[in-house]
This record gives sequence, C-alpha cells and structure tokens, in this order.
Amino acid sequence: MKLFLSVDMEGISGIVDTSYINPDSGVNYQRGRQFMTQDANAVIEAALEWGVKEIVVADSHNTMNNILWESLHPAARLIAGTPRDCSMVQGLDESFDAAMFIGYHTRQGIPGVLSHTMSGVIHNLYVNGRVVGEFGFNAIYAGLYQVPVCMVSGDNLIAVEASELIPGISTAIVKQAVSRTAALCLPREEATAELKQKTKAALSQLKTIAPLQTATPLEVAIEFSHAGQAELAAIVPGSHYETKSNTVSFRAADQVEMYKTMRAMLNLASGAEFF
Ligand SMILES: [Zn+2]
Repeated sequence: MKLFLSVDMEGISGIVDTSYINPDSGVNYQRGRQFMTQDANAVIEAALEWGVKEIVVADSHNTMNNILWESLHPAARLIAGTPRDCSMVQGLDESFDAAMFIGYHTRQGIPGVLSHTMSGVIHNLYVNGRVVGEFGFNAIYAGLYQVPVCMVSGDNLIAVEASELIPGISTAIVKQAVSRTAALCLPREEATAELKQKTKAALSQLKTIAPLQTATPLEVAIEFSHAGQAELAAIVPGSHYETKSNTVSFRAADQVEMYKTMRAMLNLASGAEFF
C-alpha cells in the first residue's frame, strides 16, 4: 500500500490567518510550519499503524518549503521546493493506491478559513463546466492515474466542498470557520486524534471511494480578477479569451496538460499590475 499526501497550509490545525502561512510574517509562520509538520506526522503515524508501507509527502504551499524536513516522520519521503510542473500533486502517479489532501481550504469566493484558488489572480476556475477549487482540481488530476482521494483535512467548510465532489470521503475537521481569518480550533491533542482516526477510517473504507473520472479532452476556463490578468494569460497559444467575463479558456488532452497550462497562465497573469 502506497500513499500520497499533498499537504497545504491554510487548513492546518491552529492556523487561522495569513500570519501563519506567509514566510515573511515572522514568529507565527515558524509556528505554522510546526503545526503543518505535526498534522502530516499524525496522518503518517496512523497510516503506518494501519499497514501502509510507503508514503510520499508533497509540501504544497507557496514556495513549498514549509514542512520541517528534519521533524517529518522518518518513514515518509518529502517532495519540497518549486517549481514543479504539477505543483501540489507533483509525484502522484499510478503507483499510488490512495491520496489524502491535508490542510486544504475552500475555493475562492466562498466562506472558509483563508479561502482562495491557487493564487490571488483566479476569481473562478472551471473544469468541464464545473467550478472547482484546489481540492477539486487536484482530485481531477489524481483521477488520471485512477488514484482515489480518500481523505481531506481542514475546516468544516472544506469538508463540505470535498464531500460534494467525492461522496463518502473521510473528513478530518480540525477547526470550525468563524470568518475567512478566524476559527474555533480544536486543541492540539484533539486535532491529532481526529487526523489519526479519520486516516484509519479512510484507509478502511478505501474500496468505497472511486477515483474521480473526468471526460477528456478537458475544457478548462479561468475567470480572472481583472482584464489585465486575462490579457496576459491569453498569450498562451490555443486559448480563447472571453472579454466580457475576463475568462480565458483552453482545451487540454489530459490532466497533465490541464495542470501545466493552468500554471503557465497563472505565471503570466501574475505579472499584471492592478494599476
Ligand atoms: Zn496554500
């Protein structure tokens, strides 16, 4: 049994605002890194107790150098650093039996602790007409390799978003969202226990979770926050720019092309200034 963990930061236990996730923000960021490593270790420990033999962890936040490598459980291998073609799910392939998305958050435009989609330039992201956040986009990627995403951790609202896409997914809820930058957090010990319990439940129920099937070619549309970003993203050959909605769309042969093209467009769009 081989398990892939994509570990983001916004949905980690005890993290409520940007002071915990921004490398420039000082003491809380260093605490956030510890919380992130502790959440990952809770999942790894439970997975090993359950019988998982091999675990790969992809640090999936910002520069992707957040997890404290020296404190990560020695049974796990860590993918750290950037750039990576497929970003948060780099390294995931058909050799894995299951994936879990840890520390995830709701999509841009809806409530939830630190809700957003990929970066500040995306207003909405659609795949085959369905609006998705990071959870959905990455789960669609996992579907390419027939890997089921069997658990998500984060606040109570990402649990809802994930369950809508993957009914029956195990949800480790480590905090209740109070606002986009406030939450009622479980104590450390209870959060660890929740993560461990839901990890084991997810692995026990793995056969009931189907990999996410998505029709190909994939129709991907990115609605940008303003026209300047959309104009830059539309430089990508083969894209279609709908000026009325700041939306740039493209067709991808498979999920790898979907991910790489999205990243290329985001890199271009982030070069636009608001004024
Ligand atoms: Zn993040």
